[in-house]
Amino acid sequence: MHVLITGGAGFLGVPLANQLAALGHHVRVLDDLSAGDRDRLDRRVALTRGDTRDIPKLWTLLRGVDCVYHLAARVSVPESILYPVEYNAVNVGGTVALMTAVRDAQVKRVVLASSGAVYGEQAVQPVSEDAVPHPQTPYAVSKLAAEQYVLALGALWGIETVILRIFNAYGPGQPIPPAHAPVIPQFLKQALGGGSLVVYGNGEQTRDFVYVLDVVEALQAAGTAAGVDRAVINIGSGTEVSINELVRKVGEAVGCTPHVLYSSAESGGVSRLVADVRKAREKLGFRPRISLDEGLRRTLAEDPQFGR
Ligand code: NAD
Repeated sequence: MHVLITGGAGFLGVPLANQLAALGHHVRVLDDLSAGDRDRLDRRVALTRGDTRDIPKLWTLLRGVDCVYHLAARVSVPESILYPVEYNAVNVGGTVALMTAVRDAQVKRVVLASSGAVYGEQAVQPVSEDAVPHPQTPYAVSKLAAEQYVLALGALWGIETVILRIFNAYGPGQPIPPAHAPVIPQFLKQALGGGSLVVYGNGEQTRDFVYVLDVVEALQAAGTAAGVDRAVINIGSGTEVSINELVRKVGEAVGCTPHVLYSSAESGGVSRLVADVRKAREKLGFRPRISLDEGLRRTLAEDPQFGR
């Protein structure tokens, strides 16, 4: 199979690209390297530096491609509140541009990496794909708009589309930017450094943490599975974990009793979020394999950022 992965130099894109290349597929990556790390890509992966809004570049890259995995996006919720215009331009504009180029190049299938963030606050948990989305941040709005464009344009132009709503992915290779870092690598870094773990809110808010290789497996399956056209599918662990519980688990993994500093809650944060993954099992044969304890151990052992 010939595939293009947009955002393929990023946290989720690199293991997807490397795995597909290892399986003998022809893998191209388009990434503007605004985040991501080209050095983690296998040498069999062909990287082109560029923007998903550059339609002529997409025409060239899409020649002969069977499936596009669209991962390129700006991904920080707090940053999206500061820069909604930029988030809309990249996450929505980039998706529309990609879909038009996909139509022109007659690519068969597009898999979109969307987000569990589209749900917002939901009374019923675990949240199923039938829940009415209630996006509460520009990031979440942009992901939902991207979904809607992919579904509508795919239906209009006869392109197969699959939407994966990924919950909180973590694992080796997840960057720790100085501002707004994702919670797991941030906690691991803080615990290893002997500092306080900063919890926003009272720590009783829950999330669904899913290991990176489980997500990669789901993405891979979405590229080839039958009977998934226009499906919207949750990808999570299906396990609800509070941030206070996460603190304890990080302490166990690192081998310390972390000191916790409670700070004011982040805007746009929801009180509970856990995925109903029954549809993923049914449509993609998806079974999350790596528990949070095991995933934290692997992250510490395999991610050079933690120097273990
Ligand atoms: P990431 O930031 O590591 O990867 C995104 C990649 O896209 C980066 O390499 C970046 O350089 C690239 N990029 C950004 N703007 C671009 C543009 N205009 N043109 C080309 N490339 C561009 O993030 P990630 O965690 O790997 O996320 C990948 C996708 O999965 C995103 O669409 C994100 O919304 C979605 N997602 C991720 C998670 C998670 O927990 N990591 C959860 C839900 C959804």
